[in-house]
Amino acid sequence: MSGRMRYFMVVADGMADTPLAELGGLTPLQYRPQPRMAALAGQGGLFRVRTIPDGFAAGTETAMPLITGYDTSVLTGRGPVEASGMGIVLPAGQFAMRANLVRVAQDGTLTEACPDLSDEEGLAAGRLLAADAALTGELARIGWTFHPQPGFRQMITGPMPPPAGMTPPHNVQGDVIDDHWPADALAPVVRRARALLRERGMALWPWGPGAWPRYEPFADKFGLCGAVISAVPVVRGMALLAGLEAPAVPGATGTLETDWRAKVDAALLAAARVPFVMLHLEAPDDCSHARNVESELKAIAMVDEALTRLCAGAERPYRLLLLPDHVTSTETGRHGAEPVPWCVYDSEQPPGAPTPFVEIDEGPAAAPDVPLRTLLGQL
Ligand SMILES: [Zn+2]
Repeated sequence: MSGRMRYFMVVADGMADTPLAELGGLTPLQYRPQPRMAALAGQGGLFRVRTIPDGFAAGTETAMPLITGYDTSVLTGRGPVEASGMGIVLPAGQFAMRANLVRVAQDGTLTEACPDLSDEEGLAAGRLLAADAALTGELARIGWTFHPQPGFRQMITGPMPPPAGMTPPHNVQGDVIDDHWPADALAPVVRRARALLRERGMALWPWGPGAWPRYEPFADKFGLCGAVISAVPVVRGMALLAGLEAPAVPGATGTLETDWRAKVDAALLAAARVPFVMLHLEAPDDCSHARNVESELKAIAMVDEALTRLCAGAERPYRLLLLPDHVTSTETGRHGAEPVPWCVYDSEQPPGAPTPFVEIDEGPAAAPDVPLRTLLGQL
């Protein structure tokens, strides 16, 4: 196998940030520069790219397909991508949408849009809903199906067109859910689910519907087979739609407690078979959403350790592209559409002077901007 170029893409989800008062007006990357990232950026230089085009939701579901070399035509919605990641295959003419199990206080306020439910808790709540004749009857009336899933991410599918006027649950957080019922056809479903889940302090919140997207297979488009190592359904779903392998890694959780060593090892194992390997680490996004600066700093240090393990284990020659997929502000807990930094490292080139891998968006020190459609070509 040696002598064949390998291409790694390491995506640190939501690692780019905004200046934080707690860190004296610096971002976490600026506050504590990471040695491995600095070594990578020091060789080929630091650049930036805008991964969220105008008019699209700032988030992983938009950024990941675009940084993987696809155009906005595949961005039909979050639901179908996640359905793919859950192993649900839709027949032609169907849509899929996410339905979150959300936490709701006694007074009806939505307190957690993405609660930390165990797989078993989520599946039990999902099965409770799927077993209810009144709820499934309401869905059947409009031709829709509910698919119970582990964790808080549940799934609904139905014939096209997808419903309009849905609000993501994180935009409802802190408000009384009754003031934000989703589309008319769904209102009876959501009400019935609320009655069934009230004792558990939960409700069902459908959102993110979309038609099944058409991805040209990655191998046809770029002439390379590939694999994606990720814990989150929206990323694994994109990989499967693009014809990339997406092996499940035991212990990969998408949080700070993830078994990142197992994920790096899975990436190295995949690189023995296929030339393109994406390693996606969710923890920085997760910690920024929780608005926990200490955890965010730990998550970034974890990404650096993962990079070190990857570089130590990778068979040469290889090239490696490092970037966050989008900004997540640890101050607000929300995604942003600002440009993100990136760099490319080549195992066969001499090292350079370490350069902090940071967001510099303005002023003469700003890193050069590279158009998104040319990003994968840099690898
Ligand atoms: Zn996020």
